[in-house]
Amino acid sequence: MNRVSINNGSRIHFSQRLFWTIFAMFLVFISCFLLFQYQREKEFAEEKLNNVLSNYNYQLFRKCYKSEDIATTVKTFMQDIPQRDLRVTIIDPSGRVLFDNSGTDELDNHNNRSEVRKARLQNEGFAIRSSASTRKRYFYSASNIGGYIYRSALEYDPYVKGVLKINMDFIYFMGFMTLIFFFVLARFTTSIGKTISKLRDFARTAEKEQMPDLDYIFPNDELGDISKNIVTLYHQQQRAKYALTMEREKLVKHFQYSKEGFAMFDGDGREILSNILFIQFMNVISDTQLHYVEEALEVPELEPIRTFLVKNSHDPNRKKKVLRNVLTIDKNGKIFLIECILFLDHSYELSINDISRQEEESRMKRQLTQNVSHELKTPVSSIQGYLETILSNPDLDPERCRFFLERCYSQSTRLTGLLRDISVLNRLDEASALFDLTEVNIPKLIAEIEKECSQEMEIRHITTEVILPGNPTVIGNNSLLYSIFRNLYDNAIAYAGEGVKITVNCYKEDPKYYYFSFSDNGVGIATEHINRIFERFYRVDKGRSRKMGGTGLGLSIVKNSVHFHKGQISAKSSPGRGVTFFFTLKKKI
Ligand code: ADP
Repeated sequence: MNRVSINNGSRIHFSQRLFWTIFAMFLVFISCFLLFQYQREKEFAEEKLNNVLSNYNYQLFRKCYKSEDIATTVKTFMQDIPQRDLRVTIIDPSGRVLFDNSGTDELDNHNNRSEVRKARLQNEGFAIRSSASTRKRYFYSASNIGGYIYRSALEYDPYVKGVLKINMDFIYFMGFMTLIFFFVLARFTTSIGKTISKLRDFARTAEKEQMPDLDYIFPNDELGDISKNIVTLYHQQQRAKYALTMEREKLVKHFQYSKEGFAMFDGDGREILSNILFIQFMNVISDTQLHYVEEALEVPELEPIRTFLVKNSHDPNRKKKVLRNVLTIDKNGKIFLIECILFLDHSYELSINDISRQEEESRMKRQLTQNVSHELKTPVSSIQGYLETILSNPDLDPERCRFFLERCYSQSTRLTGLLRDISVLNRLDEASALFDLTEVNIPKLIAEIEKECSQEMEIRHITTEVILPGNPTVIGNNSLLYSIFRNLYDNAIAYAGEGVKITVNCYKEDPKYYYFSFSDNGVGIATEHINRIFERFYRVDKGRSRKMGGTGLGLSIVKNSVHFHKGQISAKSSPGRGVTFFFTLKKKI
C-alpha cells in the first residue's frame, strides 16, 4: 500500500498559519488606512490655518488698496487680529516686494517662492518652509489678487504647531479594534484548528483500519458538518463493505454447496473463487491430481476452452459483453458439460456439470413409467376379471352381476382419477407454460372446496377453521390452486381420523408472497415417511390409500403446483399430533 510520508517535525499548525496570514493582511490594511487618515488630518489642519491667513490677505488687500501708508494700515490691521506677529508681504506681478514688515531690507525677487508660485497658478498657495530672508521657519499663505500677491505668514512656533497638531483619536480607536480583532481571530482559528485536528485524528484512525467512534463531537459549524458527513460516509462505506463481504460469503457458500463445479478467474488467469467440486471434477477429467485451480486450463481435455479464451480475450473488435463456449467431455464413465463464460474485462468463469446425473434422472423417469404401468395394471386386470366372470357365466343371478358391474365401475373411476393425476403431473413437467393465469381469490376457492367436502366432513365430524386476513388473491392457475387445497383437504379427511380439526391459515404476507399453513390435529405421519410423502406414488399405508381412492400422486401434484406458483412447500408431523404443511404462493407469477 502506498503511504504518503509527512514530516511532522518543524511544521506550523494550520490554525496558526491561518491566524498569522489573516492577521498580517489585517495589519497591512490598517497601516494603509492609518497613513491615509493621517495625511488627510494633516491636510485638513493646514487647510484650516491657510483659510484664516488667506482671509487676512483679502482683508489686507481691501485695506491697503487705497491706503497711502501701507505700513500704518498693516499695523492698525494687526491690532484687530489675535496674531500680533503676523508677517505681511505684498509682491507685485514682477516678483518685486512692495511691502514687507519683517524688518529685512534687502528682499530679492519673490516669484520663485513656492507659495507664490502656487498662488500665481491657482490664486491660492501655502507652504511651510524657512525664509530665505529671515532664516526663520514660517507658515506662508499667499493669495493672488489681480496679479498682486498678498502674503501672510506666521512663524512656525509652538502656537502654530499646536494649531497644526493632528487629532490622534482615530489611531487609538484603530489600535483598540486591532486588539479586538486579534482575540476574535485567535478564537476563531483555534476552533477551526480543533476541528481539523479531530478530522486528522479520525483520518489517522481510519487509515489504521480501526473503526473510529461514532460519537465524535465536532463544532457546530460548516466544517463540523463536513466532518460529520465524512464520518457518516465512512460508516456507510464500512457497512457497505461488510454487506459486500457477507454477500461474497453467501456466494462462496452457495458455490460450495452447489452440485456444479465452479471457478472464477481474473484477466490474468488467477483464481478468484472456486468450489471443491470443481477440483474434484477436474481430477476425474484429467486422471491426475490438480493442486491449483489455475492448472485446469492445462488439462488437454480443456484445449478447446483454452483456444476459445486465447482467441477472444484480446479481440479488439469484440462487441458482446459476455461470450460463451460449451464443451462436453465423456470420461471415466461420466459425462461432463463444461461451460466457459468470458467477460469484457477478460475475467472468466468455468462451470462443470456432471450430466450423468441427468441420466440418473431419466432412469428415475423409467422407474416412474414402471410404477405407472403397475398402478394401471391393478384396476385394468380387476375390470377384466369381473367382466370375464360375467361373460363366462351367462346364468349369473342379476344381483351378483350388478355387484360385479359396480366393482368394474369403481375400478374404472379409480383408473380415470389416476389418468387425470398423471396427466396433470405430465403437464406440470413438460408444458407448464400452457396453464392459463387468472386472478384467484383464495377465500372463495376454499369456501367452494369446503362446500364440496361438507358431507364427508360431517360424516367424520371434522371441523375447520379458516384464517385468511387481507383477503389473499393470487394471479395463478385456478385449477392448480384448487388442486393444492383440494388434495390437502382430501388427505386430511381421508387419513387424519375422525373428529379432527383442520386449520387453514395465511399467517404472513410480504410484498411478493403469501405464507400459508394447512394443518390437522389427526394421527400424523411417522418421521421415516415425512420426507418421502411428496414422491410420486409414495404412500404411507398402501392399503388404506387404495381403499380411500388415493393414487399416491396427490401430494406430488400439490408440491408441483406450489412450485408452479414459485413457492416452496414442506411438511412437519409427529404421530398423534397431526400434520402441518407450510407453503408459500407468489402473489403474481
Ligand atoms: P394418496 O393418493 O395416497 O393420498 P398423497 O400423495 O396425497 O397420496 O399422500 C401420500 C401419503 O401421505 C398418503 O398415503 C397418506 O398416508 C399420507 N398423508 C397425507 N396427508 C395426510 C394427513 N393429513 N394425515 C395423515 N397422513 C397423511
